[in-house]
Amino acid sequence: MSFAVRDPATGEVLDEVFDAGPDDGIAALDAAVAAQEAWAATPPKERADVLRRAREGMLARIEEFALLITREMGKPLAESRAEVNYAADFLQWFAEEAVRISGEYRMSPGGDFRIVTTRQPVGPCLLISPWNFPLAMIARKVGPALAAGCTAVVKPAEDTPLSCLLLAEVLTGAGLPPGVLTVLPTSRPAPLVERLLADPRLRKLSFTGSTQVGRTLLAQAAGNVLRTSMELGGNAPFLVFADADLDAAIDGALLAKLRNGGQSCVAANRFLVEEAVAEEFAARLADRMSRVRLAPGTDPGAELGPMINSRQLDRVARLVDDAVARGARVLTGGQASGPFFPATVLADVPGSALIHQEEIFGPVAPISVFKGEESALALANDTPFGLVAYLYTGDLGRAVRVSERLEAGMVGLNRGLVSNAAAPFGGVKASGLGREGGFEGISEYLSTKYLALGLT
Ligand code: NAD
Repeated sequence: MSFAVRDPATGEVLDEVFDAGPDDGIAALDAAVAAQEAWAATPPKERADVLRRAREGMLARIEEFALLITREMGKPLAESRAEVNYAADFLQWFAEEAVRISGEYRMSPGGDFRIVTTRQPVGPCLLISPWNFPLAMIARKVGPALAAGCTAVVKPAEDTPLSCLLLAEVLTGAGLPPGVLTVLPTSRPAPLVERLLADPRLRKLSFTGSTQVGRTLLAQAAGNVLRTSMELGGNAPFLVFADADLDAAIDGALLAKLRNGGQSCVAANRFLVEEAVAEEFAARLADRMSRVRLAPGTDPGAELGPMINSRQLDRVARLVDDAVARGARVLTGGQASGPFFPATVLADVPGSALIHQEEIFGPVAPISVFKGEESALALANDTPFGLVAYLYTGDLGRAVRVSERLEAGMVGLNRGLVSNAAAPFGGVKASGLGREGGFEGISEYLSTKYLALGLT
């Protein structure tokens, strides 16, 4: 059995890939279990060398990777190249971390024995990724899993399995032993994943995707008390105070809104602007957004590609229509054309609009006005999500006060981009559990073993 992968800009079939079912999932887990002990015992430097060679192999084929990402996901080629570099950064970072896995040696408080800790790989992992960053979200999981000494079964999103399959090829070329990592594309994820989560040999689930699916998988993972990492949805506020550098805030807003066509968990979802500068901010943002060039991602001048599929396109259109029906004004954009949704700015968006409650996942910037710090914080935190928040202010005291009280795992202070392989990425509230990247990232794949060392 196979299924078709299509170019979202044209609908053209790019490839037919193997359509894995639950039995294939178990076969991949058999291989991961068989390979686990030897991979865990492989010297950290050798594991690091595999990741380092894979990074080089990926960068040597950057154009091939970038074109594949653009063709299966739709983003402009320049953004796909940036994604390949971002993915390569994770392989490098975790190659460097592989050799730094450490433990402790302490005297017990009574002095009668020693407390010794080591950190061991958790075991075979299931890594599930979304379509929006089809390479980087996989590298962010595969890098630390392999560095920690875990084997893995990887399930890419059904819209975008091709760049993940190419990464697996590169890892094999870099010397990854058979069975350590298996990629399972499938058009029917639910039965395959449920079967794997029910198998007690699986020891870890790392999921990036929607909060709705994350909740279902957390419930399924409870059966075997699996270690879980959950990178889920966001609803990022983008706060602009009247004392902010407005030029910087507009640049940051464009980046936080339009990177990846707004199809990002860290996309700015609600622009909250202090009354005194709200009109100017809206007019300037609308001016810049109205000049963004819509085109297929393979077009050299493209700044904004197509939406991934008609379901996403309809969702964005529904959110815009709802906001307009409740009194929002369209300053630019607002209407889909074919598979494209233009960069859109909505002003006077009321708090009751659905667009304030749901993740937009598209290039739409809804703007609302606040008066003063308390009201800004109340609006910003009025969501079940807590992935990232952006804050623009020129007042240091306010920057500290507001950053501390924002309910988010990450804060971009006078900066519209937070993602970096060296930083801990993740959320609070319904945005997830755990962190990816940074020093924290590898810990998600390690468990601490404590040895009580007697002295007699
Ligand atoms: P999604 O939840 O629909 O799918 C994510 C993955 O889960 C895909 O691989 C899909 O095949 C699989 N899946 C879907 N239903 C499943 C089920 N019933 N059982 C098992 N697996 C299932 O999300 P998406 O539309 O691919 O991605 C968009 C979402 O991902 C957004 O909510 C976005 O915020 C989130 N995301 C979060 C982060 C983060 O780091 N926090 C990063 C990127 C995307």
